[in-house]
Amino acid sequence: MYRVLKFGGSSVASATAMSRVLDIVHAERAKGKVILVSSAISGCTDTLLGFAAGQTDGGALEQRHLAIVRRLFTGAEREAVSQEIHALFRQMEAAPPEEKVTFGELLSTRILYHQLAFDGVRAIWLDSRRLVVRDDGQETYRRIREAVDTEADVFVAPGFICQDREGRVSTLGRGGSDFSAALYGAAVGADSLQIWTDVPGIMTANPKEVPAARTIPRLSYGAALDLAEHGAKVLYAPTVAPAMEAGLDIEIRNTFDPEGRRTVISSAADTTPWIGVTADGGTLRIVGSPLSDVSAGEAQALSALREVGIAAMEIRPEGSDVIVEVRPGVRVLALQALHRAFFQTPRREDLVLFIAGTGAVGKALLELVGRSGEAVAKTSGKRLRIEGLANSRYYGIDPGGHPIPSEEGDYVRAVIDAAPEGALFVDCTDSETLWTRYRELLEAGIGIISSNRRSFAIPYTDYAAIHTAARENGAVLRYETTVGAALPILGTMAGGAAGCDEIQSIEAVVSCTLNQILSSYSGEGASLSALVRRAQEEGLTEADPRMDLGGRDALRKLLILARVAGIPLEESDVTVEPAVPLCDGPLEQFYASLSAFEKEFAAKVREASGRGGRLRFVASVDKAPGTRLGYRASIRLQEVPLSHPAYFLEGTENAIIVQSTFHPYPLVIQGSGEGALQAAASILNDILR
Ligand code: ASP
Ligand code: MG
Repeated sequence: MYRVLKFGGSSVASATAMSRVLDIVHAERAKGKVILVSSAISGCTDTLLGFAAGQTDGGALEQRHLAIVRRLFTGAEREAVSQEIHALFRQMEAAPPEEKVTFGELLSTRILYHQLAFDGVRAIWLDSRRLVVRDDGQETYRRIREAVDTEADVFVAPGFICQDREGRVSTLGRGGSDFSAALYGAAVGADSLQIWTDVPGIMTANPKEVPAARTIPRLSYGAALDLAEHGAKVLYAPTVAPAMEAGLDIEIRNTFDPEGRRTVISSAADTTPWIGVTADGGTLRIVGSPLSDVSAGEAQALSALREVGIAAMEIRPEGSDVIVEVRPGVRVLALQALHRAFFQTPRREDLVLFIAGTGAVGKALLELVGRSGEAVAKTSGKRLRIEGLANSRYYGIDPGGHPIPSEEGDYVRAVIDAAPEGALFVDCTDSETLWTRYRELLEAGIGIISSNRRSFAIPYTDYAAIHTAARENGAVLRYETTVGAALPILGTMAGGAAGCDEIQSIEAVVSCTLNQILSSYSGEGASLSALVRRAQEEGLTEADPRMDLGGRDALRKLLILARVAGIPLEESDVTVEPAVPLCDGPLEQFYASLSAFEKEFAAKVREASGRGGRLRFVASVDKAPGTRLGYRASIRLQEVPLSHPAYFLEGTENAIIVQSTFHPYPLVIQGSGEGALQAAASILNDILR
């Protein structure tokens, strides 16, 4: 039984490479007689074609061969083989131009043959120039059979070279050694035909252009031929026919990873609709099997290209393939896009979420994830998985799990135990104390996304410690939602701070409650207390509206804003003037006091409008040399003129006005500052960022 092993130019390019080849041959020899077919060493054929075209410097190529000989042989053998190489070069020089190219395979196979003989193998060198008759398969087979009918274990045959029907030395065409191997294999009825190359088999695309290309493990003769004929250089197309006629499987293997991935080409039908993508200049071909749906393929190709901004010049079916024409300049980009669409299952990163809080924001987030999860996965490549949920009474880990009463268990602990790497803890609560557990979570590598501003309006040292824990543990910590809901405020401020922007002033109109009241109070319509009551009923205020009217909520937002902007503001640095007089007693008492205050308030509003201004509740930070931080901060009702960005704010709109070195004209960020959906959207944004 015969095994035919063909090695390409890079597999025999050096002494080391040749030794590797011989190792493979020795291993195969245990399974049968080996016919070793080899290409010329890499680059040799091109150089010889150069000589034929009149270039003269043969020295370097001869030296490359002699260097290999010196590394492989010693003593008398080295001398003899060197002499032979030298003589072949002189023959090559004397040969007619069209024959020079045939010497490359003589040189490489003579070295391999001598090395085998030197190792004590019964080896015979076959002269393919006499055995292979181009375009005459039957005669070729007859001659090869006769030539191998002799006592030997390994036959060494040059690939590529042959004679034509008139008996003149010739070749089988560029890349023709593969074809030589198939002819030898078919002639002797080999039970194995192996093409050894420098890539792991036939791949879904040229790995030099598409790094994500992967090996096609099994391939039909038809599909292999289609690939080879249309740009897949790993296999010379004429190789397929003789192998197929002889029922010979072709294995494509990697010399540099002999036991690694490989392709087997056989008569078995293909089992996938799409086989690979090849390129010939700007003509790309998605090779399909009989299972392919070409019109669906055309649509898929079109959208894949559109995604990377490439307009195909033409897309058309051809048999079971789809042909795509693009400008040559974008061919690699197009190849990669097509390969991604047809051969790569999108790599989806799972984002595991543990949510705390099932109030309005938590509920909106759950709904948003449920509704948009698929779309998010498609555009961001991230699949959201909610694996834990808790409110103040119960928690559950893993959606199927039983809810556990909070008093009996500890949600944070359970999250730390269950969370996979990169998981996120989402704080949608109003808890005043949950922040004390943030460090534990961060230290366990769990990221935190929070809409809970109470967690950041804490003493600055605690605030800083949480950030340090995040940084040191490589865990994310984001809380864009805490100021202005979905408005892109904190990210913008943090970006400026990181870029060493210097703040002149920040004015923040961020109390939705007060803005709602101030923008609808005229002194003539609804009373102040009625407006506050309505805001409370609408769920706009904190549970106790005094938190808003007294400036507590605005204070939290201002602390966060300033800190993110790089100013380590503390509560004690801020002068807070409540918008209305507060009283400590029960809520009803507060409402009564509001009615008593109404007259004074109405007068203030009237006075302002008499001057063409409006009252707004403004939290601000201004540069003030000589103060503790170099900044002064206050929260109070302020009259703003028509020219002020806050003048036209309506309802729950927010505005942040920043003046800094980078923004000599103020940067104004304005828009909806409220709403459960807005908050949920902002959290989702933080999650995906
Ligand atoms: N040495 C020849 C060529 O470079 C044949 C082969 O390598 O297959 O085209
Ligand atoms: Mg080749």
